[in-house]
Amino acid sequence: MNEFNIIDHYFNQNFPAQSNVILGIGDDAALCTVPAGMQLAISVDTLVEGIHFPKNTHPQDIGYKALAVNLSDLAAMGATPVWMTLALSCPQMEQNWLKQFTAGLLELAQLYQISLIGGDTTRGTLTISIQIMGFVPQQQALQRNSAQINDDIYVTGTLGDAGLGLASIQNKINLATDAKKFTETRLNRPTPQVEVGKSLRNIATSAIDISDGLAADLGHILTASNVGASLQLKYLPLSTAMQTNLSLETAWNLALTAGDDYELCFTVPPNKAAMLKQIMTAKYTRIGKIEPTLGLRCMNNQQQFKLQKSGFQHF
Ligand code: ADP
Ligand code: MG
Repeated sequence: MNEFNIIDHYFNQNFPAQSNVILGIGDDAALCTVPAGMQLAISVDTLVEGIHFPKNTHPQDIGYKALAVNLSDLAAMGATPVWMTLALSCPQMEQNWLKQFTAGLLELAQLYQISLIGGDTTRGTLTISIQIMGFVPQQQALQRNSAQINDDIYVTGTLGDAGLGLASIQNKINLATDAKKFTETRLNRPTPQVEVGKSLRNIATSAIDISDGLAADLGHILTASNVGASLQLKYLPLSTAMQTNLSLETAWNLALTAGDDYELCFTVPPNKAAMLKQIMTAKYTRIGKIEPTLGLRCMNNQQQFKLQKSGFQHF
């Protein structure tokens, strides 16, 4: 198969179609329509082999994760994902690899009805860039810069699982079968919190998805909003796998600094707590409070806890 056969066979078929795509794959650019009253939310995330996923990750998981991390960014904006483009670079075009990669990608694309409207296919180090586009009603996007003093801080799900999964894959820790499967799935197949993000539109004052660790990502909200925060570590939601395989201090450290969980961290004024309870269908936990004093304080009851390392940084 040449490049064009590959595009046609793997990427031009199977993906959900939508009436707002006037022209999809096949021309120099796609043409799409944004509904009246909506803003277009756009984000791109790149996954490089050996950096964002270990070598030997199953191609189906790579396809799944590449879309999941992008959906997570739109979730954090409170946007509904609609379209994507895919820039794929691989050392060689291997049919079996492509088939499995596309299957993983399709799984999430079908779940959220995302159209693949274009892309680029090149030879090179295995690198997957997905650009995701979605709609959010005017003025309702969840931003990082609007957390308010006295807001409560919440997270969805549990934290640190993906980091524990990575440690397991790297043979740095030996987990029992159940915990191994659970944490490695959390790493390879993160669940984007798209529905939660959408339902937070008129409730949260700020939101971010946790890709680089809670401390680092909450830190982005604090910096952008020019506020500080205190967290109570005993409130951090930890899975059974985290609780049974790590000391409490190690678990806290991983929950605060390990990336790849793709849960949401968001802030809500106390007078909207009841509203929040009503709309939330997924697990969520209140972990701390926004304060006027800048910086992030992680408290072990009255004592400040010292982090061993802060979130992942590329450079
Ligand atoms: P151009 O030379 O204009 O950049 P390409 O030859 O790169 O066009 O791509 C041909 C068509 O196939 C374009 O419409 C492009 O958007 C689409 N395409 C290329 N690679 C991919 C891909 N990996 N996924 C989806 N669409 C793709
Ligand atoms: Mg091109």
